Parts: sequence; C-alpha cells; structure tokens
Amino acid sequence: MKKQEIERISKKLISKPELVWDAMDAKEKEGVWDFDREYQDFLNNAKTEREAVTLISEIAQKEGFSHNPTGDQPIKMMKTFQGKLIALAISGENSITDGVNLIVSHLDSPRLDLKQNPLYEEVDLAFMKTHYYGGIKKFQWLTRPLAIHGRVIRSDGSPLDIVVGEDDSDPVFTVADILPHLAKKVQYDKKVSEAFVGEKLNLMVGSIPFGNKETKERFKLAILNLLNERFGLVEEDLISAELEIVPSGKARDVGWDRGLTGAYGHDDRSCAFGSFKAIIELKSPRRAALVLFVDKEEIGSDGATGAKSRFLESILADLMIAHGKEPRYHEVHQLLMRSRAISADVSGALDPDFQDVHEKRNAARLGYGVCLTKFTGSGGKYGASDANAEYVGWIRNLFNKKKVVWQTGELGKVDEGGGGTVAKFLASYGMEIIDCGPPVLSMHSPFEILHKGDLYMTYKGFKAFLES
Ligand SMILES: [Zn+2]
Repeated sequence: MKKQEIERISKKLISKPELVWDAMDAKEKEGVWDFDREYQDFLNNAKTEREAVTLISEIAQKEGFSHNPTGDQPIKMMKTFQGKLIALAISGENSITDGVNLIVSHLDSPRLDLKQNPLYEEVDLAFMKTHYYGGIKKFQWLTRPLAIHGRVIRSDGSPLDIVVGEDDSDPVFTVADILPHLAKKVQYDKKVSEAFVGEKLNLMVGSIPFGNKETKERFKLAILNLLNERFGLVEEDLISAELEIVPSGKARDVGWDRGLTGAYGHDDRSCAFGSFKAIIELKSPRRAALVLFVDKEEIGSDGATGAKSRFLESILADLMIAHGKEPRYHEVHQLLMRSRAISADVSGALDPDFQDVHEKRNAARLGYGVCLTKFTGSGGKYGASDANAEYVGWIRNLFNKKKVVWQTGELGKVDEGGGGTVAKFLASYGMEIIDCGPPVLSMHSPFEILHKGDLYMTYKGFKAFLES
C-alpha cells in the first residue's frame, strides 16, 4: 500500500485531538484574548456566590431580562433566590412544553468561612476562627494575603456587605504557618492529611492593644471597637453573618506568552461566565433556553440554593405561566424529561508533574478545548449519572458541526480518587445531561490555572448548545 493511502486511511479512522491554537483562524484567535479580558473582569468583581449573583443580575437586567417579563417576544426572564442562586431564561420558537436547553453551573468555590463566634486573642494577637468550605488542601491557604467578603445582618435586621482586602489601600488578613526550623515533629514527620489541621486555620486580624494594662482581652476588644467604629457592629452581629475568606488579589495572565489565566475560582466561574455570555448573546432560539447558576456544589449541593433544591421546578413553572400555560405538576415534569442539559463544570487537567494519577488516553489536557465528561463518581462509577451514548453522540456531532474544539476526559485513573458534579441531581428528573467544561490545573487551590483557548471553546460550545 502506498504511503499516501496509508496516511489517508489513518486520518479517516483515527480520532486525534486538536490543539485549540491549531484549529482557529486569526479572527477567532483575537476573540480568545477579548473573551479572556472580559472573563478576568468578571472574576475580579465576583469572588463569592453573592457577588456573582449581584453582578449577573445587574448585567442581565441591562440586557432586557426581567423578574416579571412583559408579553414581548422572546420572553427574557430572570429569577434570583436568596441572593445566591440565579436563573436566566429565553423563550424559543417551539412550545415551552417541548423542553428546554439547560446549562447549570455553580457560583460557590472552596474557601474558608468565619465561624459564628470567630473572634479571640492568643499571645497578644487577635484572630478569627474559620471553618473551611469545600475540598481544600489546607496548607495552600497558609502564609498568603487573604480578603474577607460577605454579609452581616445587624441587630436591627439591616444587612451590611463587607469587602476588605482587595483594594490597594486595604489591609489583608493571613493564616500563619510554623517556621521550617521547628516543623519536624508537628509537620514533616506526619502524613500530609494529619500535618495540617482545620482548627489551626485561624485568621490573623490584629495586634494593637485597646485600653490600658488593666483592660481584659485588650486585643479582641481592639478589633471589636474597630468593627464598631467602622461598621457599627457588635460581637453578636458576627453570629448572623456569612463572611467568606478568599485569596486577595486579581486574576492574572500566566506565562511569558500570557496564554494561561491564573485566578481563584475558575471552578466554576469559567463555566458560569461562559454560559452567561452565551445566553446574553442568544437571539431567538428554536428551543427555550435556561441558564441556571447554583450555590453549594462544593459541599454536596444541599440547601435551598443548591442543585438538589426544588428551584428548577419552580422556575419552569414560572416560565410556563409566562407562556400562558398552566404549570400542572405532570406537565412540568414532562417538560423536565424532554429537556437537554449541560452540567457545566471544570474537570481536572492532566498534571505534568503528577501524570501517574491520570490515565493518559482518557485525561483532559490543557489546550485541547472544552472537555466532555461522560461520567464522574468514584470506585466503579459510583455516584455518577453517566450520560447516554445517544446524548454523547448528539452533542459531539453538534460540537463538530459548529467547529467547537472538544476533548473527552475522566477524572484520574480508575480507583485513584474521584469527584462529582450537579449532573446526577438533574438527571433524576429524567433529562439528558452531560458534564462539560474546561480542564483546570491546581483545581480547588487559591490560584487555579485555565487555558485561555479552552475557556473560549467552552463558551463557544455552550452557545452552540443553546442555539441547537
Ligand atoms: Zn466545580
């Protein structure tokens, strides 16, 4: 057989992933940089789920989304819930009862939360106790500048939103670590999982005493006095508060060529922003489109604002009413069963320094586009919803037709570990659903790494999906 013939057959038969940068023309490459700039802006202004909901709803409102849409076509509806969950919907040409194209991402990221009685003093320094939120490697949160974001409900019931540690003129906070000279017994001789203790993740917040030598708890009192002068707070107010400790600072380009973006919260704000842009730019789709941004994914999707809540049924009922249909129980559920969904979440990228934990033929790689993950879970697909072959077939054809650069990947070797997403909670309604999002390095760390081309292809894929 001739060499050319062999090459032709090989090209035809063998599936070969393509680098995003090889697949795009000059104009699209320019679009990658533009999209990333907008994304970094979003990250810098939406570091918590509350901030993300506020920002998304502000922009959506300007784009014509409304809590009570008028009869104008297409209907552009927005629903928020408890300030931590938001949904945006656009009506389609088809009847709403034919089902919706749904993308769900999550707005919460791993972090440290302040405890309800946080403030104390020790060896003439003031601290605040924390309880970590989601899957973190505890040592990554030591010895780095941290910021406080969140909300306090004061004794008169009024809310107070706080952001301290982001402006150049702000102070920052930090969790100290033991010096290496004395770390042998307390850290080096232990297993990593035992060397770093949750109860030692204490936030350093002050060092100047209050009053005179006779004053009790001078360092704690100094901070309370300061919080009172600045915000009108008393200690009990901290009980009715959700104060979140996140890395201080902005998203940054990474590398000489700036091709990567480093930031806190790519998981899952890359998907949130990608799906947000996709629905904002959607004109008049054939099927109704719904983009949902949930909270609490990092702690199991429980709670009123998590993916296990009944919010989705409620918004679909609202959507049926807006379309002049009575949202009878059976019809809402039929609508759900006829829907197609993307569980928009990041996946773990093949780590160059820890390639052993991945199975390379089935690992997502930076730069190869948006990743389709048929199943998540662990220990024999346990806890996975596992997308149908039919649905994977449909979405791969869609992405190919729309020139979305995509790859598949699963999270690590069989029995190496695992993880889950919101996919299984939505699959329980009977809808088709698959995990889809960009691969990320250093996932769940204070500085996650994302490939700009993968981010762009995620957005492009979401757009193609909503238009389908
Ligand atoms: Zn996630």
